[in-house]
Amino acid sequence: MTDLKKRFNNILQDIEKNVTNKQDLDYIKTQVYNISLLFLDELDKLAEINLNRLNTMADREKELEAKIESMEKIIDKLEKEVYSSDEDSDFEIVCPYCNAEFIEDFSNGIKYEVRCPECDNLIELDWNEEELEDDIESSLNSEENKNNSEYNDDEEDM
Ligand SMILES: [Zn+2]
Repeated sequence: MTDLKKRFNNILQDIEKNVTNKQDLDYIKTQVYNISLLFLDELDKLAEINLNRLNTMADREKELEAKIESMEKIIDKLEKEVYSSDEDSDFEIVCPYCNAEFIEDFSNGIKYEVRCPECDNLIELDWNEEELEDDIESSLNSEENKNNSEYNDDEEDM
C-alpha cells in the first residue's frame, strides 16, 4: 500500500510539474482523485464479495465438520461394540449348558458361535447387533431431520 501511495504521489507531482496553469492543475488533480475513488470503490466491492465467499466456505466447513464428527462417533461405537482392540480381544464366556468358564480369543474378528471346551456344545454369541443397528439408524435419521425439517413438519400435520 505504501508503494501504491508513493506512485500515486509521484503521478500528482509529475502533473504539478507539467501543468503550469493553476486552474487546469486543480481540475486535473480533482479528476485524478475522482478516478482513484472509483477504483477504491471497486476494490471495496471485491473485498466484500471475497469476504462473503470466505464466510460461505466457513459455514460449509462447519457443516462438514459436524457430519464428520457424527460419523466418527458412529465409527467409535462400532469399534467399541463390535471389534475388540488388541489388548482386549479375550472374552470370558460362560457356557449355558455346563456353566464352564473359558476364555475365547477374538483378535481375528468376531465369531457368532464358539464350542465349549468342556461339554462340546455350540454356544451362540449375542453381540447386540440389533441395538447397534438402531443406534446407527437413529444417528443417521437425526442428521436427515436437521436437513429436511420442513418436509417433516408437513408430515406431522397430516
Ligand atoms: Zn459347556
